[in-house]
Amino acid sequence: MIAPGGTIGILGGGQLGRMTGQAARELGYGFIVFEPSSNCPAGQVADLEINAAYDDESALARFAKLVDVVTYEFENVNVEALNFLKERVSIFPNPNVLHICQNREREKTFLRENGFPHAPFAVIESANDLETALQAIGRPAVLKTANFGYDGKGQLKIEAESTESTAEIWKRFDGQRAILEGWVNFDLEISVIVAISSAGEVSTFPVAENIHTNHILDFSIVPARIDKSLAEEAVELAVAIARKLEVIGLIGVELFVSEGGKLVVNEMAPRPHNSGHYTMDACLTSQFEQFTRAVCGLPLGSTALRSPVTMVNILGDAWQGKAPDFSRLLKQGAKLHLYGKAEPRVGRKMGHFNVLAETNEEAFTIAKSLKAVL
Ligand code: AMP
Repeated sequence: MIAPGGTIGILGGGQLGRMTGQAARELGYGFIVFEPSSNCPAGQVADLEINAAYDDESALARFAKLVDVVTYEFENVNVEALNFLKERVSIFPNPNVLHICQNREREKTFLRENGFPHAPFAVIESANDLETALQAIGRPAVLKTANFGYDGKGQLKIEAESTESTAEIWKRFDGQRAILEGWVNFDLEISVIVAISSAGEVSTFPVAENIHTNHILDFSIVPARIDKSLAEEAVELAVAIARKLEVIGLIGVELFVSEGGKLVVNEMAPRPHNSGHYTMDACLTSQFEQFTRAVCGLPLGSTALRSPVTMVNILGDAWQGKAPDFSRLLKQGAKLHLYGKAEPRVGRKMGHFNVLAETNEEAFTIAKSLKAVL
């Protein structure tokens, strides 16, 4: 166990690191960030921000000396950097978890090999592979780069009526290894966040229902509007995945609820998850506090939901030359969280807000109206 007073190191300086750092401080921990670019959201609230490339071994060695445990909030870190750190300091989740989850081919293969439900897929290395896979899997389908994909980046939907040849489609991928996935006709997208502590304790958060716009999470509605039995099934599935991966820390598991009411795993992220931001105001223990407790080996906290809630992401699109007026949102009791990012680019996550209400429908209605006036 790393007792309060110890220091947590985090690789990646984005908002997930920032909110983890804030929660860690609440519990009396020190917090050091390792991130290539300066003045990052997490660095602003850290005791120390080390700005160096993820493969800078002398900077990594210095980082390892200053902290009691390392974790990560960013998936595109080289596993070599994690393995280098692992020789020097405890690192959770285990680098192998990142190795699997950061690459769609390894992730889907893990799901297949372990019998977890997933969309049919094939590995694509050439236009020929794509032709064969499209025949086997059918259309619509979605072609995704194996590496470095999130928020719909590196994805291309191939429609049933598309007349583009496979050679043309493949050219757009520029020879990057990819997977072709069958299209899942889903009713809903949901997610489950699982925490497993270094002492082996397991805890889960209430299931979130997620609405995406342009592939980016827009709203999370909690509790998800699904049957209790399906929610229990989703939680069981997420825990089974977390256990199989031997996660210590947090993992967010994203799932589709197919039109037939079946669960299909979309992807996993071994870190706090955007769809868990509602926990900051609606649960007794936030995902960030739980993450801290898990990697430090403290007893895990209660994840009981205090109130139905809707979380809304605030993107750079809302800036339009100047910062949006948050006063209406603040006046109406929404809880606002901004990440300290100076540059509001389109599609960039700048903050989020949570709306608590008597029912999830009411929270969702208020959240939509507040978003509309941002
Ligand atoms: P991803 O980056 O893989 O999480 O994909 C982003 C979003 O694209 C998902 O949240 C879905 O809304 C959609 N999507 C991705 N893969 C599929 C699929 N196989 N079938 C249907 N929708 C998908």
